[in-house]
Amino acid sequence: MKNYFLGKHLVFVYILIIGLNCYSQKSNQQSLPIVIKNVNIITMTSPNKIIENANLVVENGRIKSINGDLPKKAKIINGKKKWLIPGLIDIHVHLPTDFSLNPKITTQKPDIIFDVQDLMTPFIANGVTTILNLNANIQSFYQRKQIENGKITGPRMALAALIDGGNGSGKKANTPEEGKQTVRIAKDDGYEFIKLYSGLNIETYKAIIDEANKQGMKTVGHIPNVFQNEIEKAFIPHFNLVAHAEEFSKSAKKFDYQEALNFAKIAKENNTWVSPTLTAMDWIANQTSSLTRLKASKTIQFTHPLLQSKWLNANSYNKKSSPERIAYFNQLAAFQILLVKAFKELNVPILAGTDAGVSGVVSGFSLHDELELLVHAGLSPEEALSSATRLNAIWLGMDNKIGTIEENKLADFVLLDENPMVKIENTRKINGIIINGAWFDKNSLDKMLLDLSTKNTKSRDEFDWNTLMNK
Ligand SMILES: [Zn+2]
Repeated sequence: MKNYFLGKHLVFVYILIIGLNCYSQKSNQQSLPIVIKNVNIITMTSPNKIIENANLVVENGRIKSINGDLPKKAKIINGKKKWLIPGLIDIHVHLPTDFSLNPKITTQKPDIIFDVQDLMTPFIANGVTTILNLNANIQSFYQRKQIENGKITGPRMALAALIDGGNGSGKKANTPEEGKQTVRIAKDDGYEFIKLYSGLNIETYKAIIDEANKQGMKTVGHIPNVFQNEIEKAFIPHFNLVAHAEEFSKSAKKFDYQEALNFAKIAKENNTWVSPTLTAMDWIANQTSSLTRLKASKTIQFTHPLLQSKWLNANSYNKKSSPERIAYFNQLAAFQILLVKAFKELNVPILAGTDAGVSGVVSGFSLHDELELLVHAGLSPEEALSSATRLNAIWLGMDNKIGTIEENKLADFVLLDENPMVKIENTRKINGIIINGAWFDKNSLDKMLLDLSTKNTKSRDEFDWNTLMNK
């Protein structure tokens, strides 16, 4: 998706923190062990195991034992008739970073500063304990550092450097040599992943993927526009993840199930996984025809008021609306459901990502929307949950630490009041979360959200998009 943040206004870098290679958080967990008693554990291992009425001990931020000895002193959480799932992972998010309305020299304070805790609260309150930022910049390292050193409560964060061709967004590369060099610099700066973007030319695209593989970095992305009439040629070794089902739609002609199967086959043969981001297309299609649903959204209050104002008052999808565009996006939204069915049929791993940051797509809340849409498209609740836990952890290379509930793994969980295997909507019935070994009950999560919403509402007038952008 394009242009959802700050348009031509310069992203302003004022804090230089580089080379933070590690995205595991330092321990800021409570000192007492935590025992979750009599809980039903949905381990999300493969095959999935459910351990009923179990006692789980968390110590030093890790799972010490399941049904083992209980510590003499511990914080006890009553898990009776409740369900424990691994912390959720969103593999496709965007987070805003500070910027100035007009270009300034880099020692000046930016005009628009985003409070890092405010950006992270919606993830935490929704049980999203790990994210992949797909258009990270140098400030993203600062955001991550704040979380790692315990100043901010937020998800584990993996960072991807975006590389585009032409005059596009992110880092630019228009020759194979530029592409390779950009990958090496990104590696040196501490990014873990490379995001490929739509404007890359064929040779540069291939060189970036080749160099990323040499540097031990996975690639994820758009399928560059140059492949539109020969999409199969974009599927080369080490193109690891398609960032949207929509990427296939660009090359679709018939929009039927057979065509969806053909696309799934291309991905399967190349061992490329897919993150459909159904919720993003759902919102885009919806806003193209009308802003009614967005205006009634109960979750946009948890987005920064500047973005709320942009979405409501300068909505690019709605502005460019026409009957043809409405029909086109509705067709894409319908086709992506066929694509999910086809990926499932051919066992192409499906990963849960939301494109949070796209207008209407709110951090944290959107992952539950995505889970519901995946089930609506034909996944079982268990398959949808795998896509947001174990499979995402595997793709990120973090499956030795997160993604399943097993002894010695990191203590990131969501405690639910109802069983999500019966009804996926139950992932929203959060009783509390543990992140990095620290417990937050429903009351404290609700309080965090209420404070955020109140703060956003109070400062709404300061952040009118059209006034600020015309300054
Ligand atoms: Zn995106």
